Amino acid sequence: MEPVDGTSLMRRTAAILVILLGGAALWGLGGSGADVTAANGALYTAIAAAQKPSGANDPRLAGAHRFEDGGWIYVHLEGDPATVGFQHGYLLAPDIEDGFAAVSAGMMHETQRDWAFFRKAAHEMLWPKIDEEYQQELQGIVDGLRARTNSKLDVDDIVAMNAFEELPDYYVPWYNKQQKVAHAPDLKSPGNCSAIVATGSWTKNGQIVMAHNNWTNYANGERWRIVFDIAPRSGHRILMDGFPGVIASDDDFGINSDGLMVTETTITQFEGWDPDGKAEFVRARKALQYAGSIDEYTKIMLEGNNGGYANDWLLGDSKTSEIAQIELGLKAYKLWRTKDGAFAGSNWARDPKVIKADTPQFEPNNLETSPNARRVRWEQLLKENKGKIDVDLAEKMLGDHVDSYHQKAETNERTLCGHVDSSPRGVDVWGWAPYFPGGAVQAKATDSAMTKEMKLVARAGHPCGEDFLAKPFLAAHPEYAWQALFLHDMKAGPWTEFHSGETASSQKP
Ligand SMILES: [Zn+2]
Repeated sequence: MEPVDGTSLMRRTAAILVILLGGAALWGLGGSGADVTAANGALYTAIAAAQKPSGANDPRLAGAHRFEDGGWIYVHLEGDPATVGFQHGYLLAPDIEDGFAAVSAGMMHETQRDWAFFRKAAHEMLWPKIDEEYQQELQGIVDGLRARTNSKLDVDDIVAMNAFEELPDYYVPWYNKQQKVAHAPDLKSPGNCSAIVATGSWTKNGQIVMAHNNWTNYANGERWRIVFDIAPRSGHRILMDGFPGVIASDDDFGINSDGLMVTETTITQFEGWDPDGKAEFVRARKALQYAGSIDEYTKIMLEGNNGGYANDWLLGDSKTSEIAQIELGLKAYKLWRTKDGAFAGSNWARDPKVIKADTPQFEPNNLETSPNARRVRWEQLLKENKGKIDVDLAEKMLGDHVDSYHQKAETNERTLCGHVDSSPRGVDVWGWAPYFPGGAVQAKATDSAMTKEMKLVARAGHPCGEDFLAKPFLAAHPEYAWQALFLHDMKAGPWTEFHSGETASSQKP
């Protein structure tokens, strides 16, 4: 425990205040130092005593804080695993409850399984292989959540939610096949995201540029707007986007204080699961926290690979200007790396061995499909802009509306900025029906220089800046009425810069 000197007492008082008042204007402290006057401190302590929710003065909250900017919720978490979890659960409690309701409803609807099924999978299959450090963090989330609210969620619920990208679309189809389940739904692995990483002669000043937009259903995507700044007791500091209650970025976009830059796009039509493996969300979090090189990242992702949420990982090492792509299948994988080149991702596998072994139904030459149409568009954009790519240009690419198959500008499932809700085709290879309310839900970008300063830029909502409005959509598409409870408006925010150690008052004007 840290000694309770004047500064730490101030910080604790500030933490209580921040939680109580939730107002950005009052944010003077965070982890950086004391600039709230003693008089204010006394006043606010009195308010705190009168209004504090249960748990607000818990010493585990010291040093943690939350603020909102540009449509994002930024949380700073620090300490040992249980403390980081407690802060996460406490500061994001209402968001976790809300996110859990949306995610669990989607998982049950899609798989036609009840929640007890997912709890059992979390408890019996996933939990025993989760590193102790992350078991403590996950339990900490439950403890923090319960200290703030009357939540009934327990650690099995939180583990199942953390696996929301891998249990429904990887484990369940494998299980249904194993058990020869009659009338099982035709579940398809997801295809999330458009991304690039470029370096050397491809970028404006030779440094690495990395950019990513997250594709998911809008119900989940509208909630995927957390910026996590984590200073763990062990490993590297992390700045990543994420989902409330989930310990990995999960979409994924993150940087660490050893200069590693990480993103991915998901492999379409992936098949396979290893019940004895380690959950993907655990490996992905561990790799971002502990890897300082492309080789270390690859090693951690391969250790206990369960095949869940199988991705093409795009990496950059800002220390060496080297970039890499790891196509991480279950039976096969392939690593490409270069100090002068660009890798793009839009949910297509490229290694013949991975395609044959892990995604045998994928058709690389069908240019009508969303993954391949976006691959063609990435190739055009990269070729046209070789030597000019920087973060500003990458932001524009993420909002691109050219359908390479129709060779015209429109918003649909084939554009890098996806709007599947306006597509009469949907995305069959992911099981998204016509007008499915999904697509690009937010975007992030960074470069080597920003990574060295632990900075990224992020935009909430469609990366092109268009809003999605739930009410007119549901009126036009009553087939999605089952989502009405969870499908909110997804308003686009501005591109907003975030950095490690940021507090509301330390933001740029
Ligand atoms: Zn768009």
